[in-house]
Amino acid sequence: MQLVKLHRTVGVKVGHVQVGGGAPIVVQSMTMTDTADAQATAQQCIELAAAGSELVRVTVNLPEAAAGVPEIRQRMVDAGCMAPLVGDFHYNGHLLLTKYPDCARALDKYRINPGNVGTGRRRDEQFSTICKVAVDNGKPVRIGVNGGSLNQELVVAKMQENTDRDLGKSSEDIINECMVLSALESTALAIESGLRKDQIIISCKTSRPRDLIGVYRALAKQTDQPLHLGLTEAGMGTKGLVWSSAAMGVLLNEGIGDTIRVSLTLPNPRKHEEVEVGHRIIDDVAHGRFISVPDFGTGLNIISCPSCSRVENESFVELAAQVREMTRDAQAHHITIAVMGCRVNGPGETDDADLGLWCGPSTVTLKRKSVKVGSFSYAQVLPRLRAELDQLIAARIHETSAAS
Ligand code: SF4
Repeated sequence: MQLVKLHRTVGVKVGHVQVGGGAPIVVQSMTMTDTADAQATAQQCIELAAAGSELVRVTVNLPEAAAGVPEIRQRMVDAGCMAPLVGDFHYNGHLLLTKYPDCARALDKYRINPGNVGTGRRRDEQFSTICKVAVDNGKPVRIGVNGGSLNQELVVAKMQENTDRDLGKSSEDIINECMVLSALESTALAIESGLRKDQIIISCKTSRPRDLIGVYRALAKQTDQPLHLGLTEAGMGTKGLVWSSAAMGVLLNEGIGDTIRVSLTLPNPRKHEEVEVGHRIIDDVAHGRFISVPDFGTGLNIISCPSCSRVENESFVELAAQVREMTRDAQAHHITIAVMGCRVNGPGETDDADLGLWCGPSTVTLKRKSVKVGSFSYAQVLPRLRAELDQLIAARIHETSAAS
């Protein structure tokens, strides 16, 4: 398989998790609870981390929220959850971080939106104050530019330049250009304020895939800071999934992006699905990225056919879902399981998989590495599949440790 060209970035440590610098792509998520409610927020952080979120972010918008952060951190630690905790600051971040030093210490990273820290000279001063708190506490920051909250002075100046010099740029082009410019200027200001390059992550989120791809390609050409990918408003249902996958898949496939957050419109109890989608985008779409990295993360790839009129037993769809559920806890080393709906194409379609299943009228055939293991009833096949999977994982671990 051909290796994709990587966008080489500086490594930034967020708590114990490295972002960039050749590390595996990190999936992160954000809580929806009121941060002032430390119990509920800690609980959601723990649930998101359990779903695979390697960083969790909380909004720190009010004094009550800042006051609650140390308790959130403590509750997470008490529950054995060591996921790094990130604080999201807007408008009053410079005040909250200086007035609540325990909050500044408890967080592992501060997210600053340069369009929301103030205006004019105050913006730079307040931005710089947050950076200095980060320096004093040895924390990294994310400079998170959003299309919707872009520094309006910059946008107006660029619009004027477009008119005066008859450059013919669309307003979308100008906004995208301003986002990149704002991120780079803010990075320079953060460094001037005392932060090192290995303490700065950048994001420039847009709400449309095409814009996101253009903005991040431009960023990748101009900076070696690690990049956080995400659409600001991917939306609901299939649209949110498709937009997130289309935008981030293209970028990750080009080696652009060190950490991702999928933002879907979901109710609180389903926030963990964003994390699952993030992992799927990385595993399925950007799998090639990790080929040159020796200690890549673990991953199980389950593929299943869409089904058609050749399906002879309607339990097929349920079986595919059960395979996913049953293997959720498996720390598989890039093992692929294929689940196919019929005896006609199933045998051929499962040839490339490590473990393959195809469905007949009353039995399911299981094969391992192209060799038939046997045919089992729908009830018996799952435990047998799990046993074969566990053996394969054990063999992979043995091979890896023998080679190192
Ligand atoms: S594997 Fe069989 S059931 Fe599935 S889509 Fe192909 S032909 Fe249809």
